[in-house]
Amino acid sequence: MAKKKVKVVKINPEECTGCLACEAICSAFHATPKYSSVNPAKSRIHVYWDPLRNIYMPVYSGPHVEAECLGRDKYVIGGKEYDECLFCRAVACPSRDLFKDPDSGLPLRCDMCEDEPPLEEPMCVQVCLVDALTYEEREEEVEEEEEKLDELEMGLEALIEKYGFDKVTDTLARISISKQG
Ligand code: SF4
Ligand code: SF4
Repeated sequence: MAKKKVKVVKINPEECTGCLACEAICSAFHATPKYSSVNPAKSRIHVYWDPLRNIYMPVYSGPHVEAECLGRDKYVIGGKEYDECLFCRAVACPSRDLFKDPDSGLPLRCDMCEDEPPLEEPMCVQVCLVDALTYEEREEEVEEEEEKLDELEMGLEALIEKYGFDKVTDTLARISISKQG
């Protein structure tokens, strides 16, 4: 069994004030060059905000999806029911504009602020002064095969982010045909 470090951001929506500092810093940290611009539309965290119902809900971008899902989740918070897609983490879902780069249309997935040298905490956690976001690291035992698959998935996601989903899948299809030939 191999050990894998798992990074976790805990979200406590009750503490969130809706200041949106997390969205701003995420977009600035991922700008090219770093910190050259602030554009919350390019953030990998989105704070759903409904002042009438008095709720702020930070949502992190998660897995990439190609197609809108067929099922729906219902959320009931404090006795109030929320629309199905509001808190979904799916990246680049065709049914909405969330977590898509507004310029390129490429998916924007949270990478936990991977950097060299590594940060002590992700940027959004650092700027959240009320502890609505807190950071934890823990070690989990994983099968070696699972660890290799994780690495493969991360590598493919980085390529998709850089070149776009269609280009990566076209290239894989081309390689597969040439290997068979
Ligand atoms: S920085 Fe913290 S308090 Fe501000 S919007 Fe983000 S999660 Fe909420
Ligand atoms: S962990 Fe980093 S990449 Fe993920 S939402 Fe927070 S600032 Fe953005």
